[in-house]
Amino acid sequence: FAVPQNIKKSPPIPRYDWYQSDKSITIVVYTKHKGLTNEDILVNVKNNRKTDIWIVLGDKILQLCLDLFEEICESEVKISTEGNIEVILLKQEIGKKWLSLGKELSGHHKLLPKNNRETSYFDCKLISKTPVTHDTWIFGVALPRGSFMHVPVGRHLIIQTEMSGMEIGRNYTPVVSLNPDEAVNISGNGRDISFMIKVYKDGALTPFLGSLKISETIKISEHLGNFKFSRLESIEQLILIAGGTGFTPMVKLMRQVKLLFGNKTEKDILWKDSLENLVRYSHDRFQVYHTLSAPSPDWKGNNGRITKEVLHKQLPPPPGVTDLDKLLICVCGPTPFTNSMETALQELGYPSETIHLFT
Ligand code: NAD
Repeated sequence: FAVPQNIKKSPPIPRYDWYQSDKSITIVVYTKHKGLTNEDILVNVKNNRKTDIWIVLGDKILQLCLDLFEEICESEVKISTEGNIEVILLKQEIGKKWLSLGKELSGHHKLLPKNNRETSYFDCKLISKTPVTHDTWIFGVALPRGSFMHVPVGRHLIIQTEMSGMEIGRNYTPVVSLNPDEAVNISGNGRDISFMIKVYKDGALTPFLGSLKISETIKISEHLGNFKFSRLESIEQLILIAGGTGFTPMVKLMRQVKLLFGNKTEKDILWKDSLENLVRYSHDRFQVYHTLSAPSPDWKGNNGRITKEVLHKQLPPPPGVTDLDKLLICVCGPTPFTNSMETALQELGYPSETIHLFT
């Protein structure tokens, strides 16, 4: 008999299992996917109990959605090389025997397309607020107890709040310290997240963020975006072009790089001292070109915006067709800035494969 050729079998849903000790519950998911990292696993715990576990498996996400049998207070994630994932949940009440894992909620044990599911949010708490410049702060945010999320390089999150009955959200890319000793774990510790945010007086969301008090709640999404880390593996030269807070997605990318950084005035330059330190200790692997569009009379550096002429002088020449994967130019800043950089790069002959715009 003939087997129809066009019927695609959907992949089987990975199996899971659980067991308990006096102190903890362990959920084991047998994904059969090799090479998973902690960036592929998210755990979102609401009120110590309602727990969503998401595991990124290629272009799909496996989700487990449970209302746990009892409260938990912490979690830990372990990944084996064969692709078995253990999510260990610490019992709030030690010694209490759980009769089941809990109630299965809608969406439980489903394998969904990564780009076709509702964005999920964490109920986070503001834990610190540290000034960076006259109008920019580092907001330190803690995920809810027991939750876990490592944000990959180049991905952003939505910060959302309700204002006059309307949900309003904006994208922010988390930052990590540029101190060479502290920046080891580039995707953070999986429990707290730091954002560098400029508070605009007439902004839609930032006045609310500016007025937030320590330990107040703030809604933060899972990580999103289309930056592909694999694009960094083959490159020999990485160029970052930033305007203002367009600096934030660049922070995690700063390895062997050149940063062209445009700002209005000297006091707008984010993390100026850290950048100088990085230049000093990087043995020429990190260079920064500052230019100011409205400098004070004391400014001794470059004046004006980043223009086509600046790019022509500061960038290596466009690569030949066989070397397209060796150069990556990342651009982020105000929309007119990003657009004008894109046009200038195209006019200078940089092929689109060498350009990534954070928009
Ligand atoms: P800003 O107003 O301080 O501007 C920074 C610099 O860009 C200034 O020197 C300005 O003169 C220059 N500039 C503006 N238009 C230009 C143009 N057409 N050509 C060349 N230079 C130009 O910036 P800001 O207030 O810090 O705003 C940063 C922007 O970056 C925001 O719009 C924010 O939304 C965006 N951003 C986007 C992402 C993302 O997409 N992932 C992340 C962070 C920030």
